[in-house]
Amino acid sequence: MPATLRDFTTDHRWMSINTATVRRQRGQDWGLLDILDACAARGIRAVAPWRDQVAAAGLEAVAQRIRQHGLELSGYCRGGMFSYTDDASRQAVRDDNRRALDEACTLGAPCLVLVVGGLPGALAGKPAHRDIASARAQVAEGIAALLEDARERRMPLAIEPLHPMYAADRACVNTLSQALDLCDQLDPARSGALGVAVDAYHVWWDPQLKSQIARAGRDRLLAFHVCDWLVPTRDLLEDRGMMGDGVIDLRQMRGWVEAAGFEGYAEVEIFSRENWWQRDGGEVLDTCSARYRACV
Ligand code: ZN
Repeated sequence: MPATLRDFTTDHRWMSINTATVRRQRGQDWGLLDILDACAARGIRAVAPWRDQVAAAGLEAVAQRIRQHGLELSGYCRGGMFSYTDDASRQAVRDDNRRALDEACTLGAPCLVLVVGGLPGALAGKPAHRDIASARAQVAEGIAALLEDARERRMPLAIEPLHPMYAADRACVNTLSQALDLCDQLDPARSGALGVAVDAYHVWWDPQLKSQIARAGRDRLLAFHVCDWLVPTRDLLEDRGMMGDGVIDLRQMRGWVEAAGFEGYAEVEIFSRENWWQRDGGEVLDTCSARYRACV
């Protein structure tokens, strides 16, 4: 553990809440503005909202509420989904990602998080082909193009490698090494315009994790997401664990991230249909805060 590891045990000043964590509370009609209010009421200083939540609440209303509460963003979720089947869909993706960049600017986000996409059509249940190498080539091409728009807007792009179980339908970039290869290829000068989002849930198992975090370094480490990996995991997407309930050594991983120079928020991101989404949102936020202090 580096001597520089920040003390998270006494307060939650470096905790951010990814707003998907409390997005579907049973019997509780919480929109994004309600979530922002609930976070601010608890002294939570940062959030990471999702585009659909922002659209539902209204971009200007959300931006205003964020300013009113003095909240920061730890990221904006999300852009990406770069793989395509024809010129029209490629252009539609580019246009949509430009809008995501503009929204991120309006909200004052530090980066736009990219979930890069898998085989085209797979997320809708109809994969167009079996050629994951071509999907990966399209992803590289898509990020290269979007990087120009991102530079114009001074909005960094954070590639989030996803666990390989999502390679077909959500992201064919599956390791930190792969994401950093893309960064090196597309932004060899390490300009700050392109980096990675390290999500513990996706990368905790990787035998190269420690060395790849060191390779990323401060320039490339744009976001750090935490939750836990439950044993057993019952749903591929919506059974993430609360920190401390699973098998990820989060404090060790934070040590690696901070040793590499990361000084930002640890963003709590939990999709949990059967457990945490069944509970009162305030209880969930309070539990996040307690577990963050104990386990992150
Ligand atoms: Zn994440």
